Amino acid sequence: MIDRQPSFETRLVRAGWEPHLENGYLNPPIYRSSTVLYSDVASMEQSQADPLRRELPAYGRFGTPTGRAFELALTELEGGYASVVTCSGLAAVTTALMAFVKAGDHILVSDSVYTSSRRFCDSLAAFGIETEYYDPRIGDGIADLLRPNTRLVYLESPGSTTFEVQDIPAITSVCRARGVVTIVDNTWATPVFCRPLELGADVVVHSATKYLTGHADSILGAIVCTEDTYAPVRSAAIRLGQTAGADDVYMGLRGIRTLGVRLRQHHQQALELAGWLQEQDEVSRVLYPALPGDPGHELWRRDFSGAAGLFSIVLNPWYGKAEVDAMLERLRLFGLGHSWGGYESLIVPADPAAHRLPGSWDEPGIVLRVHVGLEDVEDLKRDLAAGLEQLSQDCCSELAAV
Ligand SMILES: *Cc1c(COP(=O)(O)O)cnc(C)c1O
Repeated sequence: MIDRQPSFETRLVRAGWEPHLENGYLNPPIYRSSTVLYSDVASMEQSQADPLRRELPAYGRFGTPTGRAFELALTELEGGYASVVTCSGLAAVTTALMAFVKAGDHILVSDSVYTSSRRFCDSLAAFGIETEYYDPRIGDGIADLLRPNTRLVYLESPGSTTFEVQDIPAITSVCRARGVVTIVDNTWATPVFCRPLELGADVVVHSATKYLTGHADSILGAIVCTEDTYAPVRSAAIRLGQTAGADDVYMGLRGIRTLGVRLRQHHQQALELAGWLQEQDEVSRVLYPALPGDPGHELWRRDFSGAAGLFSIVLNPWYGKAEVDAMLERLRLFGLGHSWGGYESLIVPADPAAHRLPGSWDEPGIVLRVHVGLEDVEDLKRDLAAGLEQLSQDCCSELAAV
């Protein structure tokens, strides 16, 4: 340990760890505070001298020691310069975008982004900012879309629901050369499996609600910055009133400690189930870059060291809504619910065509997004098998009745 850099696994455990600040207590307490009292005017003035660093106690909204520990940990794991914690993942997305745009700007956003991120980008038109959606598989072809007023390119890889892998290094190198900021939503991979700043990105955003917290019990976000992007991002966060709840940020920090082991298990189980699903008669396609043969598999192998437990399946086009609904209600272990990244398995119907550029999604079957949790993988397989059996029964009895 003395003569070499601690490995990533060790850093997951130690990042942002400062027990000496807490009289030796291993974890920082949950600070519930708005007001911070100063002992004298000089220390009050000192704490306000540098509003961007906020290392000294100043006011609850500007952060607490728990929040700072979370920010330090995530910064170290992503290989950034500094981080800003936010009240939700969507707040991380919106704050990061607001940090860079002004009226008259043009921004490029992947067509496969998380729907709520997309809605926010659409709303920027009211402020004179034009959003253009691009094909997530564009790679260095992004160069052709850059205009003199293009301020930033927003990536999410793999894309929400449809899981296209983006060529992050190709896009960031084009953008760097042209002075265009790149922001990457790294919620799916987490720094355990991908570190976009090392691939040339300027800003990373997270919904820490998902794997970082990992137990479906808080809403939290974070923005990780390079030295150049930190000042505008922190300043936007202060202007917008960004902050995180005391309990939530504690949950985020706690979750990081076990992120590595959890993600390895999610990866293994999801890979097993995705491979199995691919062979089922009811399934026309599995969208999961960890599967050999997936269109994003080679890029994923190059830039990621593992895969999260989230993927989608496309059912054969002859299954209609009623049969798929019955299948979903037949499942016992896969809960019907939004979000993902917790310990539990979930499944939701998704409708990519409704949230994308016209014509960019033309697979005819119903899409289901699956989160593979930490339950026993054979139990999960049996649950899905029962659901698929229900599906073909309903289908075939209807066909027989025709
Ligand atoms: C869930 C999610 C968000 C938004 O996070 P919240 O914490 O729910 O606000 C942003 N990006 C991605 C990829 C997500 O899955």
